[in-house]
Amino acid sequence: MDLSKRARQLSPSPTLAVTAKAAAMRAQGLDVISFGAGEPDFDTPDHIKKAAIDAIDSGFTKYTPVGGIDELKDAIIEKFKRDNGLQYDRSQIIVSCGGKHAIYNLAQALFDRGDEVIISAPYWVSYPPIVEMAGATPVIVNTSEADGFKISPEQLAEAVTSRTKAFILNSPCNPTGAAYERRELEALGEIALEKGIYVISDEIYEKIVFDNFGFMSIASVNKALLERTIIVHGVSKTYSMTGWRIGYTAGPAELIKAMTSIQGQSTSNPTSIAQKAAVSALSGPQEPVDEMVQIFQQRRDLIVQRLNAIDGVSCFNPQGAFYVFPNFSSWLGRTDDTQRFSNSIELADYLLTNAQVALVPGVSFGAEGYERLSFATSTENIENGLDRIEETLSNLG
Ligand SMILES: *Cc1c(COP(=O)(O)O)cnc(C)c1O
Repeated sequence: MDLSKRARQLSPSPTLAVTAKAAAMRAQGLDVISFGAGEPDFDTPDHIKKAAIDAIDSGFTKYTPVGGIDELKDAIIEKFKRDNGLQYDRSQIIVSCGGKHAIYNLAQALFDRGDEVIISAPYWVSYPPIVEMAGATPVIVNTSEADGFKISPEQLAEAVTSRTKAFILNSPCNPTGAAYERRELEALGEIALEKGIYVISDEIYEKIVFDNFGFMSIASVNKALLERTIIVHGVSKTYSMTGWRIGYTAGPAELIKAMTSIQGQSTSNPTSIAQKAAVSALSGPQEPVDEMVQIFQQRRDLIVQRLNAIDGVSCFNPQGAFYVFPNFSSWLGRTDDTQRFSNSIELADYLLTNAQVALVPGVSFGAEGYERLSFATSTENIENGLDRIEETLSNLG
């Protein structure tokens, strides 16, 4: 078929093969333990579900304003005031069909062909294609485990050219769990201001932080940075609401207006019912979040300890999100006579076949030699899955 260049240029996700094979093995009745989940394994809290049911029962089932209902915008404004000390008005907020959709609209509204967008690796898989679909060019800056997987102000400054439009910051980060502290944000922010580039701050994991990490938004560093920062956020991860599809953006009114026009010609409003549920999530009791984070922290402690106990594996201790990103590079090139794996995809495939454990290859996140494991799964799965990985690798000798 004569598909568009745009569609043809979208490369299939390199993780697709592993995911498909895991599904096929399960369909055969094999017991595969998956560490692939990109979403919390908890149910959406009851009071949030009830708000949606009430919305249905009361007939709140029609179109809403394209950029979201005022009630939800006000709940978002209140959230930014309460959690981040940030002041926005309704003209600076848009609600979209998930955080990913928010980033997509933002890219469509902000980037032109020829623009460069700085992304630090390891990165969330969707950033580069979203930037490319807007015609712009992702500029990847590699960070190292030794530097806590964080981009330094020197690295950021060096990556900026006359074509740089923005820098995408994701703290806490998917896949590494790295989170930036105040002084680091100040230093990065200074470069952004000096170079005149926008900061796109993906704060979707703001609430999932460990050991009392004090999350800070780069927008709250100072007034000048607030004007240069666009925050992307959503209810998916915090409230275990991935299927509800509610994300939001806060930023300059002119940009929000442009994003609203783009949204108006594609999806129109996010689901009316889900918007009501999101109001309840943001304004209602926050205890369910605290409980979830506590469980995530226990699992993080367990999985990090188990991974570090495996010979030749080192695992960075994440400050947030629900993933670990261990380094398996010393295992690459090893062989068991029948199979040899020389990269993260082949290692993931080997472990899937021989240990029946599904991991996501690091190369998908721009970091060869690593694997991503989600700990949005039970302690039992973590123990059993790590037993299997450990045993399979030790059999290689
Ligand atoms: C999950 C995720 C999102 C957005 O998820 P939605 O379900 O679309 O709201 C955005 N950024 C990162 C880094 C994520 O992991």
